[in-house]
Amino acid sequence: MEQALEKLIKCITDRHAGTDVDMVALAYDFSQQAHQGQTRLTGEPYFIHPYNVAIILAEMNMSPDIVVAGLLHDVTEESGVSISQLEKEFGKDVAFLVDGVTKVGKVKYRGVERYLENLRKMFVAVAVDLRVIIVRLADRLDNLRTLYVHAREKQVRIAQESLEIYAPIANRLGMGEIKGLIEDEAFKYALPEEYQWVKGLATKRQAEQQKYLRTIEKRLTKELREQSIEYISIHGRVKHLYSLYLKLLRYDRDITRVHDLVALRVIVKNIADCYRVLGMIHSLWPPMQGRIKDYIARPKINGYQSLHTTVFTEDKRVVEIQIRSQEMHDQAEFGVAAHWRYDEDQGVKPALKKIGWVEELAQWKQEIEDNQRNLERLKVDVLKNRIFVFTPKGDVIDLPESSTPVDFAYSIHTDIGDKCSRAYVNDAIVNLDHQLKNGDIVEVLIDKNRKGPNPDWLQFVKSSTARAHIKAATRAERHGFLSKLIGS
Ligand code: MN
Repeated sequence: MEQALEKLIKCITDRHAGTDVDMVALAYDFSQQAHQGQTRLTGEPYFIHPYNVAIILAEMNMSPDIVVAGLLHDVTEESGVSISQLEKEFGKDVAFLVDGVTKVGKVKYRGVERYLENLRKMFVAVAVDLRVIIVRLADRLDNLRTLYVHAREKQVRIAQESLEIYAPIANRLGMGEIKGLIEDEAFKYALPEEYQWVKGLATKRQAEQQKYLRTIEKRLTKELREQSIEYISIHGRVKHLYSLYLKLLRYDRDITRVHDLVALRVIVKNIADCYRVLGMIHSLWPPMQGRIKDYIARPKINGYQSLHTTVFTEDKRVVEIQIRSQEMHDQAEFGVAAHWRYDEDQGVKPALKKIGWVEELAQWKQEIEDNQRNLERLKVDVLKNRIFVFTPKGDVIDLPESSTPVDFAYSIHTDIGDKCSRAYVNDAIVNLDHQLKNGDIVEVLIDKNRKGPNPDWLQFVKSSTARAHIKAATRAERHGFLSKLIGS
């Protein structure tokens, strides 16, 4: 077996003992074949990219289906492999994931002030399956790691988009580890001078502080043993550079006011032990006022739980200590994804429950599924394949696949739909039944004198909104016509 494949499989089985890895090996070969002869801008074989993405996912404890989707995530886009072929080889679930990853990847964000709106739309499209976004985050991280090959302009654009969209998504999902990694890579390109400043500032102090933390660690370990409190691990964690930067901005750029540049993390077995350890620490060293934070009793919105305290040690130094259970630790590092480790057979649902607004979307999906029969048409709209197109101003409009300019017009406003007469796609004039593609920029011109929609449009429109409006308008018109005929 190839060494690279062996490494990947070990990475998965270390975390998910007893998984069937045949599918992983199959996907590895398939992807390598599909990308044969393609190279990245770095000059390396293209396959290195999906392979790296798969490794990132495996290291994040992702289940094998997600890792497989990572290996295959670019084969449709880059190598022209069809979704139906993937379905034949790897089953419906993997094909669905790859399709989703490809689609959401095509969203090109424009216009700074529109970003929140776009963020929401991306989520509407993928709330159906969070795994899609997770693969996308890993894909983005690997692309950031090879960003150096690109021109400055592209570097800045990708870096900013990562800070404005990808990192906040990771944060919302509670995926602290990948959020930090994405931010630090993007920081380098988005604000190169600030990055160098923070890096210089941090490296000097970190080494010294880490050394000091080891003495604190020894003292703590001894005390824990004496009080017979079992612990899983004690380790130092170094603050990510971008989050340090944001903190420095809040503290007048004064690093002496930042106390968690390096923090000590104590991982214990359960909640009761978290509080016991906190009490023990406070009996050793006095806590700094106002710096004891109980995120166990009051978790952060994204689900983060831990006890934080900042103490004065006997050497007159200030040290931050974080105490949490293993489960809380996994939640903090891997967010929603952590739950798959505990609730694998239940799929995505338990993970979704933790996050308010994602939960809303999930409920909404549930309602639609419950009313499946009545809402078959709507379900096709909401859950089936979507495409993303843009208004000339850069707003994202999502539509069912093979939608036309008429669908686009109705999704903007009924009047625009009713009166649309001409359409431009990427600045070229097209027929109203033209099939739109992901990423198209669409502009519709209206004819103010037009009375209403053409019933023939029903032959090609795809969205239920357009269909309903055209039907209603045509019915009204026919009614008017009949009334005239009978003279009532
Ligand atoms: Mn990719």
